[in-house]
Amino acid sequence: MTSMAERLLDVAMARESVLAAARPLPPEPVELTAALGRVLAEDVASDGALPPFDASAMDGFAVLAGEAAELEVVGESRAGHPADRALRPGEAIRISTGAVVPEGAEAVVPVERTESDDGIGPADRRRERVHVPERSPGDHIRRSGEDVGAGELVLSAGVRLGPAEVAVLASLGRPEILCGPRPCVAVLVTGDELVEPGTPLGQGQIRDANAFALAAQAERAGARVVRRAVVADDLEATVAELAEALEIADAVCVSGGVSVGPHDHVKPALARLGVGERFWGVALRPGKPTWFGLRDRTLVFGLPGNPVSAMVTFHLFARPALERLAGAAEPARPRAFAVLDETVARHPLRDQAVRCTVTVASDGWHVRPTGPQGSHVLTSMLRADALAVIPAGEGEVPAGDRVDVELLR
Ligand code: AMP
Ligand code: MG
Repeated sequence: MTSMAERLLDVAMARESVLAAARPLPPEPVELTAALGRVLAEDVASDGALPPFDASAMDGFAVLAGEAAELEVVGESRAGHPADRALRPGEAIRISTGAVVPEGAEAVVPVERTESDDGIGPADRRRERVHVPERSPGDHIRRSGEDVGAGELVLSAGVRLGPAEVAVLASLGRPEILCGPRPCVAVLVTGDELVEPGTPLGQGQIRDANAFALAAQAERAGARVVRRAVVADDLEATVAELAEALEIADAVCVSGGVSVGPHDHVKPALARLGVGERFWGVALRPGKPTWFGLRDRTLVFGLPGNPVSAMVTFHLFARPALERLAGAAEPARPRAFAVLDETVARHPLRDQAVRCTVTVASDGWHVRPTGPQGSHVLTSMLRADALAVIPAGEGEVPAGDRVDVELLR
């Protein structure tokens, strides 16, 4: 085991180390109705064109192209009920939006651009006539394949399915698709001082926030929380809880007790259980005492106890790993630039993840720190839309500079 003082890993390298260790879990079939938020595990191509036929974009009349004319209405093509005959010169076929353009027709004229001949009433529909203006071939026709060509690759493995992806899969006729599984996560929090909400606080006690934060973040990341436990600051208890968590989870997140104090038992417990250390100590504020290791394919994150540090390090390291376990192609959140609205002092040795509120102005995104940034100030996570990354160094980053931001939501 290395001592943290020897070297702190930079944030990007720590994230790379985590992603290198996280290999996608075997996919499983998922019904489309349950697929929202899941990661697609297959490439999806269309088995036919979309739209599948030339369709009308308007309610109106299917006609030949040409000069203004008076035409005889000879039938109707409704959505789901094509006309029973082809169109011939001198004729129009009434058509609705989404209906098949009848064979022989070249254009659709919207109903509001036509005039019906009132002289012949509906009682004699076979002789109903319509006056249409000049129109060109293709007017108001949605061509077959305009959206998707037959055999075209539409979605690639690794995308997270949002409402649009689910809708496209439905339109491609897929009631079921292969998805990455929801990784199983165990959340353990350590500390003799911790009390669950609902229990009165005794001397020196605080409420456990991390079990709630980390479980919520894990769920947000698409994982299933299979275990939550508060563990006393006791080596044997820590070994017992971690041993069980390692059996049932794809990733274990344990907070607190990871430092080198006499009551910090997480690292010795993990060593005893054969979890190999990948890194210990990240050049990050908050979040320096972050540990990451592996037993077989199970990932173990030893996160700091301070609630803000726990949440920030979960976001930066555990969340991308969970997304990779689920098969996500691009697990890191998109980064962007934003104008910093408040001067921030740099830390000489560590990058800072500053919790910020994002606003939009005429020159793009702006970020402003949510308030005091102590790692115990959990309310600084309220209204935090993004982490602004302030690189290590001397001096300060003045208000007005552009900074790298990583979205939290
Ligand atoms: P530790 O890393 O165990 O030394 O904890 C660092 C700080 O975080 C201490 O002030 C702890 O009381 C606090 N802390 C640890 N775990 C939790 C938790 N689950 N919820 C809230 N605060 C915590
Ligand atoms: Mg502790």
